[in-house]
Amino acid sequence: MDNEFKLTREQRRMIDGLEKDEDKDFTVKALRSEWEWENSFDGVFDNLGHLNVGVTLEGVIVRAVHKLPPKVREFVYGRCVFVSFAEGGGQCYYKRTKRPWLIILGEKADESVVAHEIAHARLGHKCDLLGNNMEVAFKTETEACSLAKEWGFVGLGTEVDKEIIEAVERKDAGK
Ligand SMILES: [Zn+2]
Repeated sequence: MDNEFKLTREQRRMIDGLEKDEDKDFTVKALRSEWEWENSFDGVFDNLGHLNVGVTLEGVIVRAVHKLPPKVREFVYGRCVFVSFAEGGGQCYYKRTKRPWLIILGEKADESVVAHEIAHARLGHKCDLLGNNMEVAFKTETEACSLAKEWGFVGLGTEVDKEIIEAVERKDAGK
């Protein structure tokens, strides 16, 4: 994640266009504090809006989204809705209509799992709920795991499920 406040070229140009130094200072300060808000837990929490998933999962989602690159965070705010399963650790996602992406999380989901499901949405994967096509599952799982890893996550959501790897290997061996 970009951890430093930097003015964009557009902002720089806008500030250079200001006549008074005090206006320039004020504008930089305002932009900095806006950036700081967007990159704080409170800012992420606020941007996510109402999450009806329980306090524990809510905290996990906020921490995970906080770690995402700013562009991906924007995608989450605008396009993703989080839903929690009452029980079990299962998690999935699917594209119901053009928007939003429904991110369904088991109550035991950790930050890496949240990132993994967001990665599926970001990559435009279709959910194969029944796991009918193991090769497609292997490809999409590998991609989602790599992207979550690229975003800096570690854990379950960055490791392809053993059962999927074994199923693909069985098929390759012609069994
Ligand atoms: Zn997956």
